[in-house]
Amino acid sequence: SMLIAEAFEQAVTSQGIQDKIDIVRTGCFGLCELGPVVIIYPEEVFYSRVKVKDVAEIVDEHLLQGKIVERLVYQQSLEEDGRIKPLHEVDFFRKQQRIALRNCGTIDPEDIDEYIAMNGYKALHKVLTTMEPAEVVAEVKGAGLRGRGGGGFPTGVKWETAAKQRTGQKYMICNADEGDPGAFMDRSILEGDPHSVLEGMAIAGYAIGANHGFIYLRAEYPIAVRRVQAAIKQARDYGLLGEDLFGSGFSFDISVRLGAGAFVCGEETALMNSVEGKRGMPNPKPPFPAVSGLWGQPTVINNVETLANVPIILLEGASWYAGIGTEKSKGTKVFALGGKVVNTGLVEVPMGITLREVIYEIGGGIPGGKAFKAVQTGGPSGGCLTSEHLDRPIDYDTLLGLGSMMGSGGMLVMDEETCMVDVARYYLDFTRDESCGKCAPCRIGTKRLLEILEKITEGKGTMEDLDVLEELSEQIKAASLCGLGQTAPNPVLSTLKYFREEYLAHVVDKK
Ligand code: SF4
Repeated sequence: SMLIAEAFEQAVTSQGIQDKIDIVRTGCFGLCELGPVVIIYPEEVFYSRVKVKDVAEIVDEHLLQGKIVERLVYQQSLEEDGRIKPLHEVDFFRKQQRIALRNCGTIDPEDIDEYIAMNGYKALHKVLTTMEPAEVVAEVKGAGLRGRGGGGFPTGVKWETAAKQRTGQKYMICNADEGDPGAFMDRSILEGDPHSVLEGMAIAGYAIGANHGFIYLRAEYPIAVRRVQAAIKQARDYGLLGEDLFGSGFSFDISVRLGAGAFVCGEETALMNSVEGKRGMPNPKPPFPAVSGLWGQPTVINNVETLANVPIILLEGASWYAGIGTEKSKGTKVFALGGKVVNTGLVEVPMGITLREVIYEIGGGIPGGKAFKAVQTGGPSGGCLTSEHLDRPIDYDTLLGLGSMMGSGGMLVMDEETCMVDVARYYLDFTRDESCGKCAPCRIGTKRLLEILEKITEGKGTMEDLDVLEELSEQIKAASLCGLGQTAPNPVLSTLKYFREEYLAHVVDKK
């Protein structure tokens, strides 16, 4: 896509229209599988899978003569009479509500001026010049924002606990250790709009009384690393990070720590051990990080998407935010929609939307006319839901009640040809691999579960194996030290619950 941007620059220059056309390089816009994409504003014409050799045609036909290059235009935006629907009206975007992703795909993430032009750092200014820390906490509490990394713990309550601690040194951490297979929400935000996260961290720092923040980021996300580092530098140059921000007396700065990609380091206590330079293994909780965290000091850990919501909550107000979503799940959630669905990509929807709306209206349904079978939410910690759940609202509590969970936002659609025992085996293989080995129920238990699942998929399983799967799953959930082990059996339990007949079809001594 860099080459395409350069080709556009050359082409508009050689046509002499470089003063009339701005070329902006942005982060992901959401419809990942159609990339590289080129969007022409103001008419919002969307060209997909653009190659360098197509650039001259777009410049000659579209920019110079105002004609659409039909061959390249996103087919779902083409109306029958040949007109083009603007992007925000096509099915993929129509039901979305982009708050955390408000700037992703529209601004140049490497240019702080573009973020500022979209009201960036205005919330930080407002907070530092007109609000007390306790008022900031109250606003976030009132908005009903809950952690988007998976747990769904109320963000304002976390802040309040840390704010109350009487100690000189506190820390603010952004958890960007996104590790669920198939999930890339946080990566997209950091690549597409890094300043929204920096601003969210500075506001959180002020609210809890922390002067230093860390972003714990996967080294496997090199573009995100580069953009975050560039954004921190720009923010410092503009006086938006550093000493005495806006003359308020409040100072805040951010350092980046790179993680080596262990899934368990997304767990708060393991993450803090890793930041401290120790081996990334969990500790028992309590004490909770908000009381005793990094180097024993009160620490708030919020995930990327959570923090990206913070500035806009402070600008628009708690009641605006609380007006979106359901009674106990406010705001929006970003999902990485993937698997057997026509439109795969990143979507942001209000809480309470149904699975059917996401899969059929935004996602465009199942390709090849096949039937829907299941959807996995919550990645390796979550579970599978079936067609009988399609009309249930998506929120934290509904999903938990159905044996799955919101998780960080992976949403994997499966069609009639997917084997659900295979799905469970796939996730177990992942968690077994990622278990840090500190406690036996998880270290040994996930290995045993995987062995049984393999035996079953090879057609050698027995009815007794199904009982052992269930029993062992419950024991692992109850006895594991951290969230990884406590949730690892979920894919097994939910597929056993909703697709037992598929397990039965595999076992040898079925009755
Ligand atoms: Fe490590 Fe698993 Fe125990 Fe968590 S539950 S501490 S990942 S062995």
